[in-house]
Amino acid sequence: MVQIEKYINEPHRVRVKCMVSKCGCLLEPSKDGRSNNFKVKKYNPVHKCYTTKKNKFCNSRYLAKIYKRRITSQLGMKVWELKKLIKQELDLYVGRSTAHRARAKILKEIIGDMHREFKILYDYRDMILQTNLGSTCVMKAEDQGDGKLVFSKLYVFLRAMKMGWLEGCRCIISLDGCFLKGVCKGQLLVVVSKDENNQIFSIAWTVVEVENIFNWTWFLKYLTEDLGLEDGCVLGTSLQIGQKSGEDWRGEIVSGDVQELLVLQN
Ligand SMILES: [Zn+2]
Repeated sequence: MVQIEKYINEPHRVRVKCMVSKCGCLLEPSKDGRSNNFKVKKYNPVHKCYTTKKNKFCNSRYLAKIYKRRITSQLGMKVWELKKLIKQELDLYVGRSTAHRARAKILKEIIGDMHREFKILYDYRDMILQTNLGSTCVMKAEDQGDGKLVFSKLYVFLRAMKMGWLEGCRCIISLDGCFLKGVCKGQLLVVVSKDENNQIFSIAWTVVEVENIFNWTWFLKYLTEDLGLEDGCVLGTSLQIGQKSGEDWRGEIVSGDVQELLVLQN
């Protein structure tokens, strides 16, 4: 890699040369009077300087821009790993401090966004309730004692999902949960069904800190109310919470309205 500079940059002529003095490599295009096109008048492609793996344009701002998505998905990426990635992909050497600044810039941006978005969760809930009549959205936050509220749970159930389930799905619903990766950890608990085309149809979801019987009970309490679950509805699950399989906690999370919890095997 060599670094070049434009030492003349005018509408009718450009002069580009190697940044290393006395190298002699240059390119001189200028406007041709007859054809009105740019023509290369002088070109010396031979470098006498040594090639370098450094590029002043590859700074922390540039790196933060092109590696934002990668670092967001791999938050644990170390500075040396980022340096190695830059070397492999761009064939460039960057200093430790440049890589560190790039990573810090991205993290600050993401965490800044996260704080702002947690603050507007109540507005999000209000907007769902205002614009989707018949929906339920419950947001729980816990007071830490110092007046600061910390997010605890969020339950979302949209009326359109209920109508879709009642009109197009069989009365069988499945429970499942998965870990949330990224900046905000936690678990997503979902209730899904199968539609007429045998495709997954999500009905409601909740975000909780951890999957346990308490949180599942909390979730299903709202769900049975919202769906108006009655006798004959089958809840299917392959959940294993701690040492307890679905069989063990059948009685603990299912209220009297729902008669059967079908335990499926993984
Ligand atoms: Zn050169």
